[in-house]
Amino acid sequence: MTTVGILGGGQLARMLALSGAPLGLRFLVMDTVADACAGQFAPLLVGDYRDEAALAEFASQVDVATFDFENVPAESAEWLAQRVPVFPNPRALATAQDRMVEKTLFRELGIPVPAFADVPDRAALDAAIAAIGAPCILKTRRLGYDGKGQFRIKAAADADAAWTALGEQAASVGLILEAFVPFERELSVVAARARNGEFRAWPLTENWHVDGVLSASLAPAAVAPALHDAAIAHARALAERLDYVGVFALELFCRDGQLLANELAPRVHNSGHWTIEGAETSQFQNHLRAVLGLPLGETRMLGHACMLNWIGAMPDAEPVLREAGGHWHDYGKSAREGRKVGHATLRADTVEALAHALQAVGTALGREAQVAPVVRALAHLAPA
Ligand code: AMP
Repeated sequence: MTTVGILGGGQLARMLALSGAPLGLRFLVMDTVADACAGQFAPLLVGDYRDEAALAEFASQVDVATFDFENVPAESAEWLAQRVPVFPNPRALATAQDRMVEKTLFRELGIPVPAFADVPDRAALDAAIAAIGAPCILKTRRLGYDGKGQFRIKAAADADAAWTALGEQAASVGLILEAFVPFERELSVVAARARNGEFRAWPLTENWHVDGVLSASLAPAAVAPALHDAAIAHARALAERLDYVGVFALELFCRDGQLLANELAPRVHNSGHWTIEGAETSQFQNHLRAVLGLPLGETRMLGHACMLNWIGAMPDAEPVLREAGGHWHDYGKSAREGRKVGHATLRADTVEALAHALQAVGTALGREAQVAPVVRALAHLAPA
């Protein structure tokens, strides 16, 4: 009996545990809070990731360890890796935890990135704004996610306000200034790399964010083959350089038909949730296969799929469940503003059927604005 340990007990750990059940796996989840939602499906160890006693207890009970949460301290991952196999490796995790290190690596690998500069102090901010130009975004180098720890600078005169918002974090988590990309679209590559180096990517996904948080994903994204291949090649180059094992996502902006890399998520990713019903093998299943040294499953799509995130509170399930290809995921969390509490995936064999289902669900739930950009994208895909 193999036990997989997961650091972080949110919905990603929960979906990993659900997907690992048919493989006969057991799980142990570690989280800092006792009501972590993966704890509804797997034994939960509550403890601080920096607490060696808790980590030792965790290590003693698992055969292999992985993450649902990318901000587990890199030193804790290193400590654990001396005791049990840890995938992805702590170096890959550390790279993805720091936007400066991550973007420097992208550039080194020839992956285009928006202009960026390290901002260690207030004077460096003025210099960076002068070099990069406005509009731009000041972000924390570490510990930011879902648009948190970011300040949009519209003009050089906003520097003071940006420093007031984030300046005190310069010493602790570091700051980075990035050019604002007036992108036409946001895309992501979700891919898996196995212990033996085998690499598989799902078709590119198009994503829509609201207030920095993912709202909807559509797969396959309508992109020219050359762009598709370039995105996958970037993901592959990254995975190989980092000797990455497991599933990860590479988030990309698309501007004037060119790709610019935003960030690497060293874990299963929200923009890959559609793979549960929309692909031959889900990202969760392939992540487990990768970390266990099993053959990876096929990543081909089954038609077209759209994922809608439920933020704050769960809506009524019925309109989704009424659809032939409607699938419901309630993470078992209590409602809270801004919190990801669940998602729905609509899957259909044709673009038209998917658009139809999305419109029906959007109208029934009063979520017309959430489905509208996806329906528009599907209209471009539909044969004339
Ligand atoms: P992040 O936490 O870096 O993934 O940012 C969250 C979201 O903010 C992204 O998905 C984009 O929608 C937006 N965003 C982040 N960085 C930039 C940028 N340099 N230019 C334009 N939009 C951005």
